[in-house]
Amino acid sequence: MAATKKYTVSLIPGDGIGPEVTSAARKVLAAAGVVIDWEIVDAGVTAIEKFGTTLPDETLASIKRNKVALKGPLTTPIGEGFRSVNVELRKQLDLYANVRPIRSSLGISYHHSPIDMIIFRENTEDLYSGMENEIAPGVAQGLKIITEKASTRIANFTFTWSRENKRRMVHAVHKANIMKKSDGLFLNCVRKVAKNYPEIEYREIIVDNCAMQLVMRPEQFDVLVLTNLYGDIISDLTAGLVGGLGLVPGANIGDQYAVFESVHGSAPDIAGKGVANPLATIASAVMMLRYLGEEKVAARIRAAITLYLAEKSHLTPDLGGSSTTQELSDAVIEKIKLLK
Ligand code: NAD
Repeated sequence: MAATKKYTVSLIPGDGIGPEVTSAARKVLAAAGVVIDWEIVDAGVTAIEKFGTTLPDETLASIKRNKVALKGPLTTPIGEGFRSVNVELRKQLDLYANVRPIRSSLGISYHHSPIDMIIFRENTEDLYSGMENEIAPGVAQGLKIITEKASTRIANFTFTWSRENKRRMVHAVHKANIMKKSDGLFLNCVRKVAKNYPEIEYREIIVDNCAMQLVMRPEQFDVLVLTNLYGDIISDLTAGLVGGLGLVPGANIGDQYAVFESVHGSAPDIAGKGVANPLATIASAVMMLRYLGEEKVAARIRAAITLYLAEKSHLTPDLGGSSTTQELSDAVIEKIKLLK
């Protein structure tokens, strides 16, 4: 079953491996019969070269017009240089919920127990406020901003989604024993929202214990709701449990717009070598199709990925194989054709 409609979607190819993995995702969608007019726009390093800014007005205007974007990773300089374009994009479009499904893939997961959890990360505030100062020589401070509005919004989003998808339990992850005011506020907001969802078991866990429990007994977790920084770190930890960053997709969702992107970054160590794993971006594109209401074609691509992983051939190096990005996406396309 092909897609029902033709779409226009903004595409930010991104830096490093971004162009390689987004191009593979486009090929897979096309092979599944999804007709998308991709509006290719720049951000990050490529945008500076062309427009003198990391986030050109044209890019924001394109996403606002099309409402939906697929995005490759963008490089952020470490300890110097321009501020994160990813953070800026999420703030400008008010993409407050970062949704990251973490599922064990057949035979690839490093953990013996089946893992099926969803991370909901608040995407607009916390230590990502960008408010940092050197208040005296040798003394720096960064502001952790937590608001009632943003905390309640991500909690509502998490519980609404959990109810609609019949999930059994939500854990709020925090460090309110130390950050009593900021994480305390987050926790109070989640607690209040949880009361409106009595059918969903609500638990709280301190982030350091959560990290240990995730490594030892990940199967106990179902849905996690976290502030921005903990969400970022716990996402990579859990990606490691299910086969690595090459597999885990994501979505940045707001009330008006949505930008789909994998959890991984621009992977400069393998960029340009043609060996990046495109599955995380393909799976992000599948999330995008679901968001667009294209459930049937999304399910077909997902089933093709499952078939492909079960065979354990044409794996890229991150999955223990020696295939290229192209060979992997061709193998997934073969499975899509079989499922027609
Ligand atoms: P990274 O995710 O780019 O890479 C971490 C490790 O995972 C590397 O060894 C890399 O080779 C591997 N890896 C990542 N994606 C892979 C894939 N698809 N296939 C195979 N291997 C893969 O993280 P990093 O090295 O910490 O960050 C590099 C840059 O990416 C930084 O500038 C960072 O700011 C940026 N970044 C961007 C985003 C985003 O755009 N959303 C997210 C995370 C990091």
